[in-house]
Amino acid sequence: MNDSCPSCLARDIAPADTRTRGDRIVDGYQCPSCGHTWATVRDLTAYSELHARRAQRRTRKAA
Ligand SMILES: [Zn+2]
Repeated sequence: MNDSCPSCLARDIAPADTRTRGDRIVDGYQCPSCGHTWATVRDLTAYSELHARRAQRRTRKAA
């Protein structure tokens, strides 16, 4: 998901790096105008979080 630079307010910057960390999506950006770097963390819904925890328990029991 594109974001705006918090430093120089350049718009529509595509993420340079996207990672999924558990129930979170971390997008890393580097501004092409000023070189500022930042990351945006997005949480998925509470329902998805509960669902993921249940799935983890199932996996542990199975293993
Ligand atoms: Zn910038």
